[in-house]
Amino acid sequence: MGQNVIEDVFAKDVFNDSVMRERLPKPIYKKLKKIMAEGQDLDMEVANAVAHAMKEWALERGATHYTHWFQPMTGITAEKHDSFIQPAGEGGVMLEFSGKELVKGEPDASSFPNGGIRDTCEARGYTAWDCTSPAFLKEDAAGVILCIPTAFCSYTGEALDKKTPLLRSMEAISAQAVRVLKALGNETVKEVSCSVGPEQEYFLVDREKYLQREDLIFTGRTLFGAMPPKGQEMDDHYFGTLKEKIAAYMKELNEELWKLGILAKTQHNEVAPAQHELAPIYATANIATDHNQLVMEVMKKVAKRHDMECLLHEKPFAGVNGSGKHDNWSLVTDDGQNLLEPGKTPHENMQFLLFLAAVIRAVDENAGLLRLSASNPGNDHRLGANEAPPAIISIYLGEQLQDVVDQLIATGEATSSKTGEKLHTGVSTLPDFMKDATDRNRTSPFAFTGNKFEFRMVASSLSIAGPNTILNTIVADVLSDFADQLEKAENAKDAAHDLIKKTLTDHQRVIFNGNGYSDGWVKEAEKRGLPNMKTMVDAVPEIVSEKTVEMFERLGVMNRVELEARAEIDYETYAKAINIEAKTMVEMAGKKFIPAIIAYVTDLAASINEIKAACEGVNVEVQTDLLKEASDLLAQAQKAQNALKRSIAEGAKKTDVAEQAKFFKDVVKADMDALRTPIDALEPIVGKEYWPVPCYADLLFEV
Ligand code: ADP
Ligand code: MG
Repeated sequence: MGQNVIEDVFAKDVFNDSVMRERLPKPIYKKLKKIMAEGQDLDMEVANAVAHAMKEWALERGATHYTHWFQPMTGITAEKHDSFIQPAGEGGVMLEFSGKELVKGEPDASSFPNGGIRDTCEARGYTAWDCTSPAFLKEDAAGVILCIPTAFCSYTGEALDKKTPLLRSMEAISAQAVRVLKALGNETVKEVSCSVGPEQEYFLVDREKYLQREDLIFTGRTLFGAMPPKGQEMDDHYFGTLKEKIAAYMKELNEELWKLGILAKTQHNEVAPAQHELAPIYATANIATDHNQLVMEVMKKVAKRHDMECLLHEKPFAGVNGSGKHDNWSLVTDDGQNLLEPGKTPHENMQFLLFLAAVIRAVDENAGLLRLSASNPGNDHRLGANEAPPAIISIYLGEQLQDVVDQLIATGEATSSKTGEKLHTGVSTLPDFMKDATDRNRTSPFAFTGNKFEFRMVASSLSIAGPNTILNTIVADVLSDFADQLEKAENAKDAAHDLIKKTLTDHQRVIFNGNGYSDGWVKEAEKRGLPNMKTMVDAVPEIVSEKTVEMFERLGVMNRVELEARAEIDYETYAKAINIEAKTMVEMAGKKFIPAIIAYVTDLAASINEIKAACEGVNVEVQTDLLKEASDLLAQAQKAQNALKRSIAEGAKKTDVAEQAKFFKDVVKADMDALRTPIDALEPIVGKEYWPVPCYADLLFEV
């Protein structure tokens, strides 16, 4: 037993490096480490030995099944359990798990979204172990399951999942970053990995109340609901003291995550009532992605144990801040340097500024792609809606770094800093860009925060595989161009210097340190020629533009078929999500709200008659006005419900996915708003005992 609960439980359920070192024969362990480091294929001898050790370890922990745990394009994880059981003759059984079963699985691919890949390829899909992400145990009502993180591909090798492109993008950025570093004179660097720390926001609501709302159950957000008298205006929730019930939840959540080797670090209340955040310590991108998927899953599971429901939707409540995910991203060399950390020597400063310039150019050249990578139907309620970052992509550098950039653009040299220190790129050192509290701009979608970039637009429920695949690829693309130029140059340092100046000059339009929520910025961004894509659907074409296809194919991250599949799935996902929301609204209006309102107006009318009968000439103006108002709104609601039904039916007839998504965005969504408006207006009029669902105040303030 350790000193502390963290030591006792940390990574207890993970087949990690220390378990492997302890349990694998030395030569096998060494071979495996080499394979992991060099990204080679696993040979059968190693696979069999690892499978055996993994099985023994899992059995000791009570596991009965194993699964290839993968991340299909649904954005959630998938698993199919196989027991370790094998017939052993004479009616007996043995528990078996071979190297072949470890490295490769064959789930039926036909029921996962494939965006048309299946038409061109075979229905069969393969899962292959990502041996750089450790296996782990999942324990729940199904017993103990050994989970093996895997990539999921078609028979012909097309990626059918989120992990494969991510792994390829990590290789691409590593190769190009290494070229740049070598050209700058680094002889030892072999690999550059991308580190990712995702901050996860979420809501917790009472489960009993959640279960009374079909909208929450089917869509994850409220489709009706008037604002309570109190929202978040008092700013009394952010970093507020945790309620006992929430604290107990967070304690269990942390322990469950620690068992899985997830470095859950920070927790606090967020801006909105009932909203919270959890941040882990960063990890390599693929592991951070696996972990974030597990974080979301465990958040939901633990909430149920505490009679609560965890909402990961981007906008569960209209008028109240929604949830996002801040994807903190940086590049780290195998010799331990963070490439986005301003340096201590002139050489490191130049290296830092070169990588900074690469990111700035990549973001400017691929703003639409980045916008898409952070999008899902839910995030459309946030981006550009005055709370989350705006839909316009820009970069925040902060005052101090901006000053350095300005000097570089103006003179090619930065000779001073705001803190008064010398900072010639070629002569002296840059000051430390300390992450300080004032250096915060919550309105920027892409902010430099001292030693990393923080991509703040990402949707809270989205897999971070996509955003990081895009980020890695677009930065790899610029680095590959930089490397071409540096490798050719007679003097690489001079060339790097010129590249920094030229890149910053050419792409300064994407830098913006002001208030991203202001209307002024929208106009200014337009003047600068920055794209402003209001919705996810507007951004989908970015992933199949000729420029994107050429870049992704050249860098070996995805081919045209894979990219087209993703565009198709994006359209499909969008149309399906809105369709479900619209149908849920029709159902709730028809079965719950309209009957409740009818009951209310009928009772009101009866009471007016009763009062009149009891006392002739009595004043019943108030009741009569209420009756009129409620009846008018009721008629409006009924009309809007019919219109929505018609547009759902029309949307279903569209055969082209892009056209269908556009129809749902432009027509169905407007009809949904038209139905919500009268019903939300009725909520404060109709008596509480008539209202058929828990209201915002019940959900937000009564956990
Ligand atoms: P804040 O809320 O101030 O943005 P947090 O501490 O909540 O900061 O989250 C910062 C996140 O950034 C953490 O997940 C942290 O691990 C991550 N992070 C820190 N350094 C790096 C880095 N070099 N690369 C990637 N992520 C990082
Ligand atoms: Mg943050």
